[in-house]
Amino acid sequence: MKTLPAVLCCSPRCARTEDKAALDPRPAAPGYVLCWTCRDRAEEYLTSLARLYLDCEAAMIRATGLHDKVSGTSSPGLPLNLVAAEARSRIVAVLAEWAGMVVDERGIDAPKREAGALVDFLLGQLRWLGAHPAAGDLCDELADLVHAADRAAYPSPPRRTQLGRRCLFTECGGVLVGVVHVDRPERSRIECDLDPAAHRWARDQWMAVRRAAKVTPVARPVGMAA
Ligand SMILES: [Zn+2]
Ligand SMILES: [Zn+2]
Repeated sequence: MKTLPAVLCCSPRCARTEDKAALDPRPAAPGYVLCWTCRDRAEEYLTSLARLYLDCEAAMIRATGLHDKVSGTSSPGLPLNLVAAEARSRIVAVLAEWAGMVVDERGIDAPKREAGALVDFLLGQLRWLGAHPAAGDLCDELADLVHAADRAAYPSPPRRTQLGRRCLFTECGGVLVGVVHVDRPERSRIECDLDPAAHRWARDQWMAVRRAAKVTPVARPVGMAA
C-alpha cells in the first residue's frame, strides 16, 4: 500500500521559524499548492492592493502640497511623490504580469490594465492560481508589493511612548507602550512591550486600559518596531 507524499505549501513565506532563518511550511490545502493561510493571505494582499493604490495617489497629492502645509524642508514632498508614484506603477506592472500569465495559459480575455480591474481579475482566478506551480512566487511578490506600497503611502514612522503602566495580562511582565500613527490614526494602539502581537488594545480603549492597568515605574528603552 502506497501513501501519497504530503504536499507542502510552496509559499516561501509559509510558517517561517521564529528567527526567520528556516521554513516549516504547513500542508497544502486540498487541490492547492498553498496552505489555507497563505491562500487567504494572497486574497487579503490582493484586496488591499486596490486600496493601497488609491492611498499612494492620496500620498502623491499630499506631497505636492495641495492639502498639507509645506513642512519647511528644502524640497518638500518630492521624494515621497516619487516613491508613491513608483509604488503605483509597480502595482500595475506586477499584477498585469500575473494576469498576463493567466490569460496566456487559460486562453481567456485580459482585464483592463488598471489596478482595480487587475485585482478583481486575479481574485476571480485565485482558485486556479493557488494550484499553479508559480503560486509561491505570487505570494512572495504580493507581500513585497503590499509592504512597499504601504511604506510609500504612509511614510511617517509611528511614535512610541512609554505609558508607565503594566500590561493588563497579569502573568505578563510587560509594560504598556502607546503607538501613534500620525498619518493613519486608526492604526494607533496600545501594546505590551513583551508580547505586542497578542497583548494590544485599540486607541479607543485607552481610557478603559488606563483605569485597569497598574502604574509601574518600570521603564525600558522604547523600540522602533512598527
Ligand atoms: Zn503556506
Ligand atoms: Zn503583556
